[in-house]
Amino acid sequence: MLLKIHILSRVHERCLSTSLPAAQSFRKWYQQLWTTERTNLPPYDHFTQVGDPVLRGHAADVPTDYVKSKEVSEIVEQMVKVLRKYNCVGIAAPQIGISLRIIAMEFKQSIQKELPEATYKARRMTELPLTVFINPQLSVTNYTKHKHPEGCMSVRGYSAEVERYEAVKLSGLNQEGLPTELELSGWNARIAQHEMDHLDGKLYIDHMDTSTFICTCWETVNTKSGRVEIPFYK
Ligand SMILES: [Zn+2]
Repeated sequence: MLLKIHILSRVHERCLSTSLPAAQSFRKWYQQLWTTERTNLPPYDHFTQVGDPVLRGHAADVPTDYVKSKEVSEIVEQMVKVLRKYNCVGIAAPQIGISLRIIAMEFKQSIQKELPEATYKARRMTELPLTVFINPQLSVTNYTKHKHPEGCMSVRGYSAEVERYEAVKLSGLNQEGLPTELELSGWNARIAQHEMDHLDGKLYIDHMDTSTFICTCWETVNTKSGRVEIPFYK
């Protein structure tokens, strides 16, 4: 029982430190993230994992006055660093422990060489230069749904098929704090829908086809007699 109470209080403490209550000033909240009293504080250098309350909360809008602040640019910089370190295609701020409405996406041309041509075509993958959205809004522009396998760095080691809309439009502010819009289709529209879900505390496992849920290393588990570990660090 004691342990349970201890865990609950830790969760509570963590929620306080990673979400932005409306009444609290942004700067005070941000400074609290960097306090020296605790080690390894957000913005993290790794992906938070399912179970972390920060992944289930509704992320707050970045206050207008802070969109161009040093604090927000540091968060964006860290998101891009983690995105590239793990060689993935999208990241949302809660994934580095920050409950703010910021996403970053990048689909590099080089990924084409890593996938069979048929897969690349079937998933309608195309290059997407680094794109950052602060306080983004998404509207669906083509309601045709496509089902493809999807993974998430916050549900490390697993994947499942998920239905997503064919095309969407993102609007919000860019990295410089200027209003911007972007039309996306195919795989890039999927990335946008996945990252936007993160801002509302949703994960792909909430609307996956459960019968397709797999451990991505299940075959290796057999060939290596179970001596396999899912890496959470790079
Ligand atoms: Zn994800």
